[in-house]
Amino acid sequence: MVNTFTVGILGLQGDFKEHQNMIERLGAKSIVVKHISQLDSIDGLIIPGGESTAIAKLTEDAAVDIFEAMHNKILAGMPVYGTCMGSIFLAKDIEGSCQGRLALMDITVKRNAFGPQKFSREQEIVIPILGPEPFPAVFIRAPIITSCKSSVVILARINEGIIMARQNNMLITSFHPEITDDMRVHQYFLSMLESNKLTNFSEFVYLNRS
Ligand code: GLN
Repeated sequence: MVNTFTVGILGLQGDFKEHQNMIERLGAKSIVVKHISQLDSIDGLIIPGGESTAIAKLTEDAAVDIFEAMHNKILAGMPVYGTCMGSIFLAKDIEGSCQGRLALMDITVKRNAFGPQKFSREQEIVIPILGPEPFPAVFIRAPIITSCKSSVVILARINEGIIMARQNNMLITSFHPEITDDMRVHQYFLSMLESNKLTNFSEFVYLNRS
């Protein structure tokens, strides 16, 4: 089933190669998306980690068309997974900034919420939707989701704030699973491509209340 999917990895900025490896290890096809025409041949899109101010700059010039097309495809239901920078790029609100972004997900993010690079870290976190085994979450100058609307399902949080969430066809993590050996987040994203709709989420809604 999974190997019938083609996942696009946005290749304009950030660590797209690592995501590509992960997707291919899981048996799906992947293409690095750099041109608007490639959006027609993908079933889902990953927006990797990187530097959000750099991708924001691209929204102001030559690449405008591809972002407009991505925006429309995601609005129409194409599954998308934003990692770290990708989560900032999907957020409707960024604390203290109006930098360019897709502004599709009902979340407010705080950039560099853990402080400078030296405070980047790995933390084992139990993420119920991925099973009981803790996930090795790697935070690299990571953002935190400081608030979200009730349309967003919180999938994981730590003391600093929310680090994984989903709103219908949109999934975000503030950490980087693509640079670990744990494939469960990517596997979960591929399952979103399979169902392409929000299902079986009621048991996790309790996380929203804590
Ligand atoms: N700190 C970066 C930013 O705000 C994100 C870092 C990352 O994607 N690892 O754009």
